[in-house]
Amino acid sequence: MYDLHIHTVHSPDSHDGAFMEAYAELALSKGYQGIGFSDHLEFDPDDDGCGYLDYDRYSRDIDAVRKKYEGRLTILKGIEVSYQREFSDAPKRYFAGKDFDYLIGAVHFVARCPFHHGDRYFRGKTAEAAFRAYFEEVERTVESGLFDILAHFDHLKRYSIPVYGSYTLAPHAGQIEQILSAVARSGMALEINTSGYRHAFRESFPAEPTIREYVRLGGRCVTLGSDSHAPAQFGTGIPEAVDLARRAGLGEAVYYVSRRRQAYPITG
Ligand SMILES: [Zn+2]
Ligand SMILES: [Zn+2]
Repeated sequence: MYDLHIHTVHSPDSHDGAFMEAYAELALSKGYQGIGFSDHLEFDPDDDGCGYLDYDRYSRDIDAVRKKYEGRLTILKGIEVSYQREFSDAPKRYFAGKDFDYLIGAVHFVARCPFHHGDRYFRGKTAEAAFRAYFEEVERTVESGLFDILAHFDHLKRYSIPVYGSYTLAPHAGQIEQILSAVARSGMALEINTSGYRHAFRESFPAEPTIREYVRLGGRCVTLGSDSHAPAQFGTGIPEAVDLARRAGLGEAVYYVSRRRQAYPITG
């Protein structure tokens, strides 16, 4: 197994000793073949996380841990980019001349408003309007063609549940079909983000019906990611995600080396 969504001390929201080595030790003890670090990269100057990631330090730390675990564990250098249409030119400029194994595109803001801090994003919006605008930004993220992996497809549900009491994706079926078709056509991978198993609703981002829809539309590439922000979260939900992918008819998941996709079999 490969967990490709891991935050370390290079992300401002990591905690409780999120050192690369701590994750590597856990991965070895749990029988993982590889892990990928995916610290946050922000381009909005209004966001506190903007400028936090120091590429040279990040690269040096990854090189050191790779060396230490050489031959025992594959360690991949990823990044999780907050895609914002307002800064759509920034990623290309940033990535020129830098080397990463994979780039994860994520939506954390809509119209520059974060939806993971307080309820400002939801104020004055119906649930339907909130999700519609969110999925429009997800669609832009896919269309940008910048990324290898689409992060936590329906992440908004986590933040919308406390506001509206529940969530439904039913009104957005057409929009979702369009995005998943674009992902399948593009050759990008859809992430099965298992951090939702740490919350009361206990399901992945996206949940099973969306994974099944993706497969129905011809999508075959998925990655598994726990979105850990502390070692105690490492790998949570990954076995459940493997079962889910298999039920949806997938026999493989993927990871990336130097931005080239590699498949590996997933077994229950
Ligand atoms: Zn994210
Ligand atoms: Zn993340």
